[in-house]
Amino acid sequence: MTEAKIISALNEENFSHFSKTYVPSRLLLGPGPSNAHPEVLSALSLNPIGHLDEAYISLMSDVQQLLRYTWQCNNRLTLPMSGTGSAAMEASIANFIEEGEKILIAKKGYFGDRLVDMATRYKADVSVMEKPWGESFSYEEIKYEIETKKPAIFAIVHAETSSGVLQPLNGIGEVCRKNNCLFLVDAVTSLGALELLIDEWKIDLAYSCSQKGLSCPPGLSPFTMNKRAEDKLSSRKTKVPNWYLDLSLLNKYWGSDRVYHHTAPVNMNFAIREGLRLIANGGLDNVWYRHNTNAKKLWKGLESLGMELHVSEDYRLPTLTTVKIPPAVDGDGFRNHLLRKFGIEIGNGLGELSGKVWRIGLMGFNSSEENVDRLLNLFDTELK
Ligand code: PLP
Repeated sequence: MTEAKIISALNEENFSHFSKTYVPSRLLLGPGPSNAHPEVLSALSLNPIGHLDEAYISLMSDVQQLLRYTWQCNNRLTLPMSGTGSAAMEASIANFIEEGEKILIAKKGYFGDRLVDMATRYKADVSVMEKPWGESFSYEEIKYEIETKKPAIFAIVHAETSSGVLQPLNGIGEVCRKNNCLFLVDAVTSLGALELLIDEWKIDLAYSCSQKGLSCPPGLSPFTMNKRAEDKLSSRKTKVPNWYLDLSLLNKYWGSDRVYHHTAPVNMNFAIREGLRLIANGGLDNVWYRHNTNAKKLWKGLESLGMELHVSEDYRLPTLTTVKIPPAVDGDGFRNHLLRKFGIEIGNGLGELSGKVWRIGLMGFNSSEENVDRLLNLFDTELK
């Protein structure tokens, strides 16, 4: 019986009705991925070349140079890790924590929870400071916790995609330095979209993703670490307990030697080079300004339609807006209606905000006045 099933599954006739791969056209105004820029898509569709080809090696250097600009840093070890944002997130924990070492995590949403989960798996001594989903931490609260807990690493999410909160980071780097602690920042929903100054803010380690501010498909996770982080890595007593994400090995490929570690996803690196080039050509200041302006237009428009925003304007996140679902409205029904009838995606709330808010993303290529107008118009005409 089992044998007959396997043989029939292997029969190619079973697949003859499969048509050529097709995906519907969508405008992605949810928490990510966002639509990729057309120039990024052309770069992605180029024929692969070898990951040790001299032309590719030169492209790697371009990507690193462009990433340093986008991160606003001079860090030698700045690279796109293979994998989505969670890959560089895990690398940030796996490489810098040894068993029993203290990490303090400021948690105010779903992705803070993920950091806690990862740090626990790597057997860190985890302390958590917590805020309700929709609030940010003050400088004083963070300073107090770092000074009293004395962690080896302090980790925080800059742009919390689950709640729509932007965490101010100014001054925290200084506190970390005074307390001999590394400052780790999740910039998944801020890199290439919102002001982020790695060197000036004294951030020691940071990671992001390709599918939001950088207008690329998901698949790479930009990462950067400074000399303080390099020193901590080289003083480890034990091997990094994760081969794929071991930065001392990746350093041999992305550092100076270009020695094989794993086969780089070359097309994704073509794509990210293009996404980063577009940002650099337009200028970071302009990119930040565009994201802020379009978000403000969205907020004003939603409020003028009588809708309530979940986060106070003081720390509202321009890339991701959480808007309360009106009491009489079927939240999932409205989202499905937008998707099925108009091809527009917005997100449901995540975790404890599920069913309470919608999440509207304006990120990278999709942060445009035209998209804001289109969405506001649909909220006006379709939300009954
Ligand atoms: N951190 C934040 C703030 C995120 O928004 C996400 C994903 O949206 C991640 C981490 C994880 O990234 P990924 O889903 O690309 O693995």
